[in-house]
Amino acid sequence: MDNRFTAIMLGPPGAGKGTQAVRVAEKYEVPHISTGDILRDNVARETELGLKARSFMEGGDLVPDDLIIALIADRIEQGDADSGFLLDGFPRTLAQAVALEDLLREKEMPIEVVVLLDVNDDEIVRRISSRYLCRDCGRDANLGTGMITDVCPHCGGELYQREDDTAETVQNRLQVYRRQTAPLVEYYEGKNLLMKVDGIGSIDEISGRMFRDLEREWESGNG
Ligand code: ADP
Ligand code: ZN
Repeated sequence: MDNRFTAIMLGPPGAGKGTQAVRVAEKYEVPHISTGDILRDNVARETELGLKARSFMEGGDLVPDDLIIALIADRIEQGDADSGFLLDGFPRTLAQAVALEDLLREKEMPIEVVVLLDVNDDEIVRRISSRYLCRDCGRDANLGTGMITDVCPHCGGELYQREDDTAETVQNRLQVYRRQTAPLVEYYEGKNLLMKVDGIGSIDEISGRMFRDLEREWESGNG
């Protein structure tokens, strides 16, 4: 069996996918590929992709599949992904999942595990509307304590709120998730790839749970 770590982080907006994805990627020494981060970088640099994606993102809608699939195809071709990767924020539709499978079939590196971070709607709305990010280190200022600080608790940098982290947009993002992304849960369940992790608790508690389950599910079959 292949021992490359190829995984997907799935879950609603605000589930903490990004935070946990960084830790998983570090532990398994694979690139962390976040479509949200790549898109935001393109928006900031006003690239052709960024200009096309911007209005969708601000309204909390999905960027069209063809743009995202091209972006991922390109990213996966970069050499660092040959030994594995962790996808965060992709796939978000059934069409994206199917396109991913086609891409990976060519490379003979199928997805090994899909981590679902499970968080209920009330908690999501609460988290997103109180989410502040650091301009300097990019990290989330919310340490899970609910305490609001003036500057970044990690580096002292200036804090800001993401354009799509507003109360109205959050509702739309949740609805988009339920309609378009949630069907992927069943899809990956059917392929026996789904690993559901309780996403409530401190950041360390959640990664503790996740690593324990990953070790069991993935390392036992591959190590
Ligand atoms: P969230 O915190 O909601 O999980 P992300 O940072 O992953 O958000 O993505 C932010 C926005 O970027 C999404 O609301 C969407 O507009 C766009 N986006 C990111 N990934 C995808 C994707 N795979 N397909 C379509 N749109 C995407
Ligand atoms: Zn910082």
